[in-house]
Amino acid sequence: WSSWDFPWTKKLEANNKKVFGNHSFRPNQREIINATMSGHDVFVLMPTGGGKSLTYQLPALICPGITLANIPATFLSGNMEWTEQQEILRELNSDYCKYKLLYVTPEKVAKSDVLLRQLESLNARELLARIVIDEAHCVSQWGHDFRPDYQGLGILKQKFPNTPVLALTATATASVKEDVVQALGLVNCIIFRQSFNRPNLWFSVIPKTKKCLDDIDKFIKENHFDECGIIYCLSRMDCEKVAERLQECGHKAAFYHGSIDPAQRAFVQKQWSKDEINIICATVAFGMGINKPDVRFVIHHSLPKSIEGYHQECGRAGRDGQRSSCVLYYSYSDFIRVKHMISQGVAEQSPFTPGHNRFNVANSGRVLETNTENLLRMVSYCENDVDCRRLLQLVHFGEKFDSAHCKKTCDNCSKIKSFIEKDVTDTAKKLVELVKLTGQQFSSSHILEVFRGKHLAKSEASRILRHLVIEDFLMEEVKKSDVYGSVSSVLKVNQSKAHNLIIGRQNVVLRFPSAINSTKLSKSDVTPAKGSLMSG
Ligand code: ADP
Ligand code: ZN
Repeated sequence: WSSWDFPWTKKLEANNKKVFGNHSFRPNQREIINATMSGHDVFVLMPTGGGKSLTYQLPALICPGITLANIPATFLSGNMEWTEQQEILRELNSDYCKYKLLYVTPEKVAKSDVLLRQLESLNARELLARIVIDEAHCVSQWGHDFRPDYQGLGILKQKFPNTPVLALTATATASVKEDVVQALGLVNCIIFRQSFNRPNLWFSVIPKTKKCLDDIDKFIKENHFDECGIIYCLSRMDCEKVAERLQECGHKAAFYHGSIDPAQRAFVQKQWSKDEINIICATVAFGMGINKPDVRFVIHHSLPKSIEGYHQECGRAGRDGQRSSCVLYYSYSDFIRVKHMISQGVAEQSPFTPGHNRFNVANSGRVLETNTENLLRMVSYCENDVDCRRLLQLVHFGEKFDSAHCKKTCDNCSKIKSFIEKDVTDTAKKLVELVKLTGQQFSSSHILEVFRGKHLAKSEASRILRHLVIEDFLMEEVKKSDVYGSVSSVLKVNQSKAHNLIIGRQNVVLRFPSAINSTKLSKSDVTPAKGSLMSG
């Protein structure tokens, strides 16, 4: 796909320079454009800031016909009046259509018969060039940001089987990808993915104490004085409290969350883009579509709800490639808080169609299970004070990573640590055997729950289990569920590797910080009460 010999290559080069002002293409951009322009369904996994927009805007510009792009409501500039919409739909139907790219929200596709009829008519005249689904991970219930409206998008492929679909996301695990491909009905789709590693981001996790706000103030003054940053908070009230406190400390801070009115929201965004405010204390409602290249730090004042969410929020730092900090304040009590919010369905989501509110519906079934599993993984990320943070994140996205490449840019790699090496072969064997005995059909958190029930609370079991996956003794496999028609991941035994372990030919050794240096996580702060982490 990297060939320069496609019929459109010259036009591509010229327009990339002339219209978009780019000197060259970024990694995968040319390949993606060639694949979609060849008529294939394409799935793109590209980190935030990688340049996804160009991969559909440029084809839209140089192909005949119209490109339909589904994007979250907040990307649309303001709320269009009905008459204006009518005007556009009429224009679409005229033979001299001036539009190349039609942005709609998923909700619109599901609900507007007028739109569907217009698309059918365009399609009949071979003028529906391409269908683009941005933020495609929102389709999947297995993902961290499921949006019901996205599920209806499958109808597009059914109605227009010959129109190529381009699905784009900056965050998807293997199971989310499977789910999206299935839900959208993509056929023989070509997948582009690139490393999720962001070398210019520095990661650390810090125990959260009562002095957390003092710590944040000090951290910013010492490392990022007068620079731009985002502080993600759990609740709307937290946002306001943190912002107020930082203002008192002399920072130009403001808060942003789902319940401030649109005028104030716009005002804050404007001040932020003009650098009149440089710190935004926000819920996850702030972020999608925010395109500031020089965000120097992203601080999580509370535990994020999933590793995908965390990775995406951190991804808003350092888009310009300059060194930036990602600091997470973790306490076990926040875990309990988030868990409660998830089960009550009151956790704030990223921006959503105004008026369409799913905050006050208690989560149940599949969605609750997924959210809880995601949260537990986030907790085990925080409680791990040994392994490279990059490795831990990237493994989650199914990527291999050699932690030597971290070059001490995460807290765990940069600590001067003394370790004790501990042979955990016994526990490792038991875990592998448990996966086998239970028929290789359960998720890792379920296996841990069973294991802890049998062998009492062992805080290291979860690390050992993760290690077994990283080292390929166990594999996380995507499983389609008949009941929900969606996918989940279950643990399988990798026979050849596990065999050596079981017959005692191979040992599993893990490094644990020795007692003298393990000051980072104070026990009372983060250690769960016996068994509580996995129960309930
Ligand atoms: P994403 O949607 O993947 O987060 P964007 O499409 O918003 O990323 O692009 C991020 C930034 O990179 C934008 O400012 C965009 O103009 C710039 N960009 C994209 N492609 C190129 C390119 N080939 N050369 C230079 N800059 C680019
Ligand atoms: Zn590291």
